[in-house]
Amino acid sequence: MHWPPDWQRVLVVVAHPDDESFALGALLDRFAEGGAEVHVLCLTRGEASTLGAGSVDLATVRAAELASAGQVLGMASTIAMAHPDGTLANVDPDLLAADVDRSIERTRPDGLLVFDPVAGVTGHPDHAAASVAAMGAAGRADLPVLGWALPQSVADSLNAEYGAAFAGYPPDGLREVTVERRRQRMAIACHASQAVPGSVLWRRLELLGDREYLRTPGAAPSTPTAPAAPTIPGASS
Ligand SMILES: [Zn+2]
Repeated sequence: MHWPPDWQRVLVVVAHPDDESFALGALLDRFAEGGAEVHVLCLTRGEASTLGAGSVDLATVRAAELASAGQVLGMASTIAMAHPDGTLANVDPDLLAADVDRSIERTRPDGLLVFDPVAGVTGHPDHAAASVAAMGAAGRADLPVLGWALPQSVADSLNAEYGAAFAGYPPDGLREVTVERRRQRMAIACHASQAVPGSVLWRRLELLGDREYLRTPGAAPSTPTAPAAPTIPGASS
């Protein structure tokens, strides 16, 4: 298989507005720059974030931020559903999967891109719930799935420096992709309510440099280093 796969249409399923930029932005840019039609399905509007909580209506603000970031990244569409932020894992999985099913019907993707489901990469249960729903729908539609993941060394550094709960994989469990982050940084700037200077986000980008990493979720060639006691960060990223 050509790497990364030369999908013409990609469906991205994430939990929060900003996940598509903070986490996947460079990869989405790469797909779009390669001519792919990329659609983003975001399952919440991010209203539970403690950042920007002084806003009158954080859900509306963050949904608008998602739309702006999507334009910067050249997305064909962005949709923000209204499932509850912070408790996505408590939502009936069939409801989440039905949303993904509808997006697959609408966008006819060649494949799906999600956060790796193990600890939702960052330790946030919402990320894992979104990915599990997407993987179920992809399975029913017989579509391939790529999971965004971190090398163990990067996860270890972030966990040590920030007391975070990132999951990482040994190098042989990941595929490396060279990326360019200019447009990702512009998309991050669209999320003004969330992009706090000095946050773990920036350190992660620094550690990753011009590389991102993908794996095939569900395949189990290597055991990820999932943190023993995941915490739920105040910010939803
Ligand atoms: Zn998130």
